[in-house]
Amino acid sequence: MRLTVLGCAGSFPGPDSACSAYLVEADGFRLMLDFGTGSLSALQRYASLTSVDAILLTHLHADHVLDACSYVVVRRYAPDGPYPKLPVHAPSGARERLSGAYGSTAEGPLDDVYEFHDLGPGSFELGPFTVTADRVNHPVETYGVRLECEGRSLAYSADTGPCDALIRLAQGADLFLCEASYLDGAENPPDLHLTGRDAGEAATKAGVSRLVLTHLVAAWGSEAQAYEAASAVFGGPVEIARAGARYAV
Ligand SMILES: [Zn+2]
Repeated sequence: MRLTVLGCAGSFPGPDSACSAYLVEADGFRLMLDFGTGSLSALQRYASLTSVDAILLTHLHADHVLDACSYVVVRRYAPDGPYPKLPVHAPSGARERLSGAYGSTAEGPLDDVYEFHDLGPGSFELGPFTVTADRVNHPVETYGVRLECEGRSLAYSADTGPCDALIRLAQGADLFLCEASYLDGAENPPDLHLTGRDAGEAATKAGVSRLVLTHLVAAWGSEAQAYEAASAVFGGPVEIARAGARYAV
């Protein structure tokens, strides 16, 4: 598997990154894992515009989904299009939410562009990947995911507070892409996001090989603090996700 960070800015676009979006490729199959604000721009640096084979949206917060609306234009109105329908695995209600956000009721729903599948706890096959999803600890219906392919594994926290599902999904993962939105030591609301220390503790409990911290909020956070807090409790390699970073998993 190859993971490309298209966007890793937490909650709103940062000065150096789009919002959450990750391109995961294997055997020529391209999966968009979240499709946050600004990431359609970044996608074009790493893949042809129409080469996406499937989309998985972990939850319907704006910063994880909105460029899936812009992408409708790409598929529907391309001069050499329209392009075939794309499977979109997302929490229930995604069809209505994205159709509404796209904004033109006169043009109808997005059924000519996307084929929506409700995401739920459990495993399914998607191209070369076995995808396992489970509910994590966030105020809206949110799924952390684990992707497996040819014996390798990538776990992604989505947005979450600490929870057991996160540990299960990340168990023994070769790469654990884990959010670290909050600063340790601050007055953080519960059941919403993780700190660097939380991410490090989850990585240790799950026994992952490598931890990549993502969804940091550049305007409010501290990369150095998140890195140090995670490294203090996780003995393996820790990195901060950067837009454009690529990982062989
Ligand atoms: Zn969220």
